[in-house]
Amino acid sequence: MRIGYGWDSHEFRAGVALKIGGVELQHDRGLAGHSDGDVLLHALTDALLGAVAAGDIGGFFPPSDPKWKGADSAIFVEEALKQVRRAGYTVANVDSTLILASPKIGPHAKKIQARVAQLLGVRPDRVGVKAKTPEGMGTDDAAIAHVAVLLTPVPASKNRSPRKNTRRGRKAK
Ligand code: MG
Repeated sequence: MRIGYGWDSHEFRAGVALKIGGVELQHDRGLAGHSDGDVLLHALTDALLGAVAAGDIGGFFPPSDPKWKGADSAIFVEEALKQVRRAGYTVANVDSTLILASPKIGPHAKKIQARVAQLLGVRPDRVGVKAKTPEGMGTDDAAIAHVAVLLTPVPASKNRSPRKNTRRGRKAK
C-alpha cells in the first residue's frame, strides 16, 4: 500500500468563480490562482503524486506556463492518476478537510464528494469531504485543503504495463 498527503491554499478574490472539488459554488468571491484555483483538486493532485513519489503539481504544471492559465484543475488530477496507474497502483480511498470561513460546505459536500469520486473512478463512499471554519487562525481570506489518499497495488492481471524486460524476466527465458 501507499499513502499520500497534499495541502494547498488559495486567496479569495472578488470577480472570480468559486470552484471546489470540481464543483462551482455560488459565492460573492472565488479563489485566485493561475488555474481555476480549485484548492481541493490541487491538494488531491499532490496527494496522488506524493503517494507514488512522482513529484508535485508545480513540477507537472508550472504556474509560469501560460498554458495552464484558467485551466480546469480536473486536468491535474487526471495526470496524477496517470502517474498512479503507471506505478501500478489504484485509489483505495481519499479523505479531505477544507478550512474556510465561507461559504458553508455542508450543503454542497455530497456534490463535491460525487464529483471527486467521478474524477478518481471510485465510488463516492471512498471519498471523505469534511469542512471546518478557521477558528483563531486568521485565515478568513483564504481557503485551505488537506487531502490524504491510500493506494493499493493493481493485481498483476489487471496491470496494463507488466514489466517485460526486467533482469528476472530475461533470465527466465
Ligand atoms: Mg493551488
